Amino acid sequence: MSATMSLVLGTTNAGKLRELGELLAPFGIPCRSLREMTGAVEVDETGATFAENAALKATQQAQALGCWVLAEDSGLVVPALGGAPGVHSARFSGPAPAGARETTDERNNSLLLERLANATGRDRAAHYACHAALADPTGRIVAVADGVCWGEIASRRRGGGGFGYDPLFIVPEYHRTFGELSGAVKAVVSHRARALRAMIPQIVRHLAAS
Ligand code: IMP
Repeated sequence: MSATMSLVLGTTNAGKLRELGELLAPFGIPCRSLREMTGAVEVDETGATFAENAALKATQQAQALGCWVLAEDSGLVVPALGGAPGVHSARFSGPAPAGARETTDERNNSLLLERLANATGRDRAAHYACHAALADPTGRIVAVADGVCWGEIASRRRGGGGFGYDPLFIVPEYHRTFGELSGAVKAVVSHRARALRAMIPQIVRHLAAS
């Protein structure tokens, strides 16, 4: 397999890697994760939007590795919190305190519940957003796509599936959180699935032509 014909998934987040791998598998696109690559760089997510951060990640990893890179930036948006955690979703609760036993996801979820403690009805509305970007081996962005998944924030954690804010994210059509729903449902309705479905024809076309 040549370095240019396979696709590097530009993330080290285990939950994202699992979901992206499952979404791409039916199309026979050979994928590798950043963890398998020597020369991957740490990208500072300095963008103000999901789109800017996705482009930063795709471009910088592609230039460092000389490979096709699919990167995405995603997060949870709660309008009643002014759009927070938004682009800061991964680090909403800040750096882990010394000796912390909770994981970052657990601390993020605790902070979200605390911030919404007095919120009811529409104030618990939220959505997940995902922006995906495909960079060619020179770092040029050749395709982008967005996906959104609408929902609301539960008053307590429900279910152990998914990752991140999933135990708190209720998908209204199912009356269940992503923590309670199967991965198969998330692979149809999630923000990441919607962005990837829009992007896959372009990934296939670009890799076949390379
Ligand atoms: P990023 O790596 O900067 O894109 O951060 C994404 C963060 O948003 C993750 O660490 C999670 O906190 C949150 N997030 C994004 N997508 C999901 C999802 O599908 N489920 C749960 N949390 C998510």
